Amino acid sequence: MTSLAEVPLAPADTTPAAVRLAGTRAGLADISSLLAGAVGTSLAHHAPGPLPAGTPAEVLAAASRALGPAALPERGAGELPALQLLARVMSEYGVNLAHPHAAAHLQPPTLTVAVAADVLASAGNGSLDTYDSGPAGIAVERWLIGALTRLARLGPDADGVLTPGGSLSNLLGLHLARDAAALRRGVDVRRHGVAALPGPRVLCSEIAHFSVHRACAALGLGEDAVIPVATDRRHRMRPDALAARLAALGPDETPVAVVATAGTTDFGTVDPLPAITEIAADHGVWTHVDAAYGFGTLFSDRLAGRLDGIEAADSITLDLHKIGWLPAATSVLLVSDPAGFGALDRQVAYLNPADDADAGFDGLLGRSLQTTRRADAVKAAAAFLAHGRSGLGAMVDRCHDLARHAQTRIESEPALELVAGADLTTVVFRYRGADPAHDDRLNAELRRSLLESGTALIGRTEVPVPAVGNAAVSAAGGAPGRVCLKFTLLNPATTTDDIDTLVAAVLAAGRRCDHLARERTA
Ligand SMILES: *Cc1c(COP(=O)(O)O)cnc(C)c1O
Repeated sequence: MTSLAEVPLAPADTTPAAVRLAGTRAGLADISSLLAGAVGTSLAHHAPGPLPAGTPAEVLAAASRALGPAALPERGAGELPALQLLARVMSEYGVNLAHPHAAAHLQPPTLTVAVAADVLASAGNGSLDTYDSGPAGIAVERWLIGALTRLARLGPDADGVLTPGGSLSNLLGLHLARDAAALRRGVDVRRHGVAALPGPRVLCSEIAHFSVHRACAALGLGEDAVIPVATDRRHRMRPDALAARLAALGPDETPVAVVATAGTTDFGTVDPLPAITEIAADHGVWTHVDAAYGFGTLFSDRLAGRLDGIEAADSITLDLHKIGWLPAATSVLLVSDPAGFGALDRQVAYLNPADDADAGFDGLLGRSLQTTRRADAVKAAAAFLAHGRSGLGAMVDRCHDLARHAQTRIESEPALELVAGADLTTVVFRYRGADPAHDDRLNAELRRSLLESGTALIGRTEVPVPAVGNAAVSAAGGAPGRVCLKFTLLNPATTTDDIDTLVAAVLAAGRRCDHLARERTA
């Protein structure tokens, strides 16, 4: 493959006067023809599997060779050659999430209409912080937030904002919760810092997403502020344990938030939201629901009931770049009371002076920690308008069905052990080798061998698997973490036959790795 340095110079004129700009009428037409040229290259170099074959070192070296020396070239190669080179690198060395054997992460294949809309949003390059940086983007975001608060049944005053990811939505939610909890204690954290807030505590299940801990560190509460609450056998927070933890807090402690998870990353399980929101409300504590993964079940008639209780949350994280089939990042923080955004309001002379704001020339600066902020709602609105709730819901149901099929297939296979069945769209399991003592290493090697061959992209996690015959050990507590394999099924175009061949690939890799391991030790 030729590198950019070797691409012959195109006749394209790169002088300033001739530069083609995306926002113009001619520029929009150019985008289509440039894309058409690049798509041809992508199709020609599409990798056969979900990942390129080879070791990470080989793949990354080949991709950098193709790109050429890491230096800004003195002379540009022209638009189409540049785009074609990148199209080639991306399709030859990238990930193909639309491949039926791409089943590792909460990273879906994307909807074409959303990608097209995202191109339009990029072309316009509107920003959301001020009215004059792009009214359309503001209108689309308000439209999307309205649709989402309605879906969550949050009430007419509810509000929200898009963020660059679920981790940052959790950070923002806890930021608002922190400042609200401090204000209730008469502490102005924004001005005086967190030192003035006595013993901040954030309660979440022991398998809550790590971004909750990170958020506590970033917010100055410290990771020690996190109080892990015990889970039941189905990986859900135990309300009795939460109530006990809250009741045990002393007068020198400040409960900042209770974080419930709606769709745990590994299992898709939902904490009992009605009980949790009620207990938190009894203690006057902010409830944040991390529905990064699970929110999309609200599209589905079959599964929406699992999120009953979410309407009582003070804030909600949701990722439409997971269940939602949108390009990242399309994450949202919803709040039931817009007053919560008071923690972020700010008057800046060059952006939102009071008289401009009074006259209606206002943007969304006061809802975000970002200033310049791209119009990520456009791609989401495109997907919502094009597919509707029922269309998206059918996609959710399809992925749920696929996970259930995978579970059945795994249960029927003696060489596989089901660890957690299909609650939502994930299934966790283990390969059983000849010697159970080596199963952790075997499962890890098995997965790496699939990644290296490029034929299947499956997930890995660690779950405390109780020893057989020791049913007294709770699923989540006590037992040591064991290396498990995971299917995360978010491709609605996948068939049950595809799942069967994926399971067969896992079995074949397991046999191969087990055989190699025994040869090593022999
Ligand atoms: C994925 C996930 C997050 C983090 O979201 P990002 O968009 O990857 O930052 C947070 N919480 C849960 C439960 C998740 O599954």
